[in-house]
Amino acid sequence: MGDILGQEAVIRERRLGSLLTFAGTSDDLVGLSERNPEGCCRDNSFNQCGDCSAQRAMLPLSQIRDAALVNHAPLGCCADFPLFNAGNRRGLKLRGMEPEGIRAVSSNITERDIVMGGAARLAAAVGEAFRRFRPRAIFVSTSCASGIIGDDVEEACGDCERRLGVPVVPVYCEGFKSMIWTSGFDAAYHGIVRKLVRPPARRRGNEINIFNFSNYQAFTPLLAGMGVVPRYYVHQSSVEELATMSESAASTHICETLGTYVAAALERHFGVPELRSPPPFGLLWTDQWLREIGRVTGREEEAERTIGAERARIAPELDRLRGELAGKTVYAFGGAAFCHNMLAISADLGLRIVGMMGFHHDMTFDNPHEEIVSIRNIHQRTGGIANVAVCNKQPYQMVKILEELRPDMVMSRHGSLPVQAVKLGIPTFFAGDANLIGGYDGLLNAGRRLVRALRQRNFTRNIAAHARFPYTDWWRGQEGAFHFRRPGQAAG
Ligand code: SF4
Repeated sequence: MGDILGQEAVIRERRLGSLLTFAGTSDDLVGLSERNPEGCCRDNSFNQCGDCSAQRAMLPLSQIRDAALVNHAPLGCCADFPLFNAGNRRGLKLRGMEPEGIRAVSSNITERDIVMGGAARLAAAVGEAFRRFRPRAIFVSTSCASGIIGDDVEEACGDCERRLGVPVVPVYCEGFKSMIWTSGFDAAYHGIVRKLVRPPARRRGNEINIFNFSNYQAFTPLLAGMGVVPRYYVHQSSVEELATMSESAASTHICETLGTYVAAALERHFGVPELRSPPPFGLLWTDQWLREIGRVTGREEEAERTIGAERARIAPELDRLRGELAGKTVYAFGGAAFCHNMLAISADLGLRIVGMMGFHHDMTFDNPHEEIVSIRNIHQRTGGIANVAVCNKQPYQMVKILEELRPDMVMSRHGSLPVQAVKLGIPTFFAGDANLIGGYDGLLNAGRRLVRALRQRNFTRNIAAHARFPYTDWWRGQEGAFHFRRPGQAAG
């Protein structure tokens, strides 16, 4: 995983051999990951849209309660701030706190700074963030512009830290650095673990770290029955809560894509084990997750009791939902491992899985634990998936794949994407808040929403009748969706 005490996180295509395009079966992808863990991250020769790892780094960092974020960038790189603002307000409200906006500013690099250097502007922005927000720590996220001109952000942050007396944490997440935008999550965690997390002063034997977004605290009641207390990270955490994540009994996350870098860092440097199980989505994976929490916290009997009671409680409604969904086909798209979570839910609801599209694929993870290899877990759970695509959110490819497979419904983790399926007349489930489909109640919640989506078939048919795509007959006539893959790209 590289050196967590080093200046910056190693990007995913180097560290995890991550892929950006692939077409084949889940068996092919499992085999490829085992044979070729170093991967070969080539892109398509044509991209309709893109994303940026700086945004993925700033998303959590902007939502630390008593910290501030300085984006050392031109103003345009702050385009996602309204989105982070909305997430922060929602997250605080869900946690019973007063909704507030994020505490973030831009250093607003201009053309002049590109020529003359931006260090003075960065120092001024950090000073302004300190004056406005009186934060307990300041994160400084880098950008393409600051990377290209070669500003010494490390030194500038060190100077500010000495002057202001609070940690000033550089986070190296230049957008051009990685083709895998989730490298930005790792950059954010790297800064937190490197500069803020303290060695444990004590062990909190019944508390576990759960890395997630600004989402509903869905796992609290489930774990309460076992006497386990979740500590939700990192959105809406305080700087002190970040500093003590090293004291928890274990770490887990809602998806390997989001959380394995920080979990591995905590395991390696502070002895906090990463749970060796898939995340808690669907019946079987939630059982496994609770058993693993029981093992690491010495609560095996409590885990078995919770599993038995929860399964009995949800059984009547689960049977009804399975009856309504039986035999229906489903296709899922979402960020790599979270796609596997949605398919674990689909399998437990009795749906027939026709395929999936992950936005990238990590050939390996930072901890070498077999139990967290997400593609292998979903391959085994489903007995194999015939159509597995890796595609960096390109609508032109999504539309082509869905037109060919024509599933009864689509599950999507991210907003803005469901519209592609709806325009084809396919009822679509938008997961949104990831935690709301986690655990046993989340399985029922997902089932109810899928049934509702199916009942709205006329609505989606009407939309499809009036929708137009911009794609030419030439593109529609191409065989498969991967015409623009560069030669040499790993494929099944
Ligand atoms: S960091 Fe680079 S890729 Fe990201 S928004 Fe700014 S200019 Fe665009």
